Amino acid sequence: MNLQMCDLKGQYRRIKNEIDAAIQEVIDSTAFIKGKEVGLFQDELASYLGVKHVIGCANGTDALQIALMAHNLKPGDEVITPDFTFIATVEVVALLGLTPILVDVDPNTFTIDIQKLEEAITPRTKAIIPVHLFGQCANMDEVMRLAQKHNLYVIEDTAQALGANYYHSDGRVAKAGTLGTIGTTSFFPSKNLGCYGDGGALFTNDDDLAAEIRSIANHGMKVRYHHDRIGVNSRLDTIQAAILRVKLKHLDSFNKARIEAANAYDAMLKPCSKIITPARAKWSSHIFHQYTLKLVNVDRNKLQKELAAKGIPTMVYYPIPLHKQKAFEPDRKFNLGRSFQVSDSLSGSVISLPMHTELTDDVIKYIADNFLKVLKE
Ligand SMILES: *Cc1c(COP(=O)(O)O)cnc(C)c1O
Repeated sequence: MNLQMCDLKGQYRRIKNEIDAAIQEVIDSTAFIKGKEVGLFQDELASYLGVKHVIGCANGTDALQIALMAHNLKPGDEVITPDFTFIATVEVVALLGLTPILVDVDPNTFTIDIQKLEEAITPRTKAIIPVHLFGQCANMDEVMRLAQKHNLYVIEDTAQALGANYYHSDGRVAKAGTLGTIGTTSFFPSKNLGCYGDGGALFTNDDDLAAEIRSIANHGMKVRYHHDRIGVNSRLDTIQAAILRVKLKHLDSFNKARIEAANAYDAMLKPCSKIITPARAKWSSHIFHQYTLKLVNVDRNKLQKELAAKGIPTMVYYPIPLHKQKAFEPDRKFNLGRSFQVSDSLSGSVISLPMHTELTDDVIKYIADNFLKVLKE
């Protein structure tokens, strides 16, 4: 078996005709930048998410940077993020001269710990960036309650959870990324909604913020060659938008395939005492960007090597929590005295199995059987 963490080729084969036609149409038009597909995709994604504005950009990291710039934060302003996430979430905070305040995560959902979030809020705090990690939302009712209480912006990093549902405690249902001041996402190829290169987007219900975001992403201009502020050049190109229009139509069925694969893994792996299968938060659907297990007293390196020998790839997301990254050494002083017990422990014990839209029952059984076998040996 030739197994991969994410089988993009198999998925492409299934939708090849639609994708090839969409790409060819853009090439025929030669409207590679700002072609009509960009606007159409933004409108279609806005309607899928139930949000007023979707603004495309070049990648998910830019989306986060533009979101911070749109809030006009100043050097010294504190931005709170979880300690256990992809570096992009925090990188842009530091890049803009803002102060990243890292907070430990919940041991079950791996999303930001609400109590520790509250403890980290100071008079200098201006924004929170909750991350909907591995396909599941952070506890947004609580994040928004704290944000309202302390008058903070909330930028939802939805790069790993596009299409997930958030279940409010009062019964309302909303899409991940539409609850905060701004939501951001990435269309990196392996994400749940991925394009065939780089891409990203921001979402907001606020008309003024949307105008600001469009301007920042376009060299800080609203009227051509009138530059009101320092911006960036960050665009979703037309070919990627055309591909995303095709894939958006399949997003719910793609996410369903991931959920079914996760359920099949769960059923086989749950009985093993050395494995803790992914927890499901009551406030969110889980669309399994990653299927991530916690290992109990297992030599992870050895396990990975033995599985690799059987042709089974695994990955560790994330092996080093952000507070221990060399790049954040200068910021470490801001995070002294805070405990990162959970992210320290998770980075040593998590392991992710192949997760994508093309997993068959046979492949899942092969992976799970061998996983259990290697753990017993
Ligand atoms: C992928 C990812 C990003 C960045 O997306 P790019 O498109 O690669 O820049 C940001 N945050 C999280 C949580 C991600 O997983």
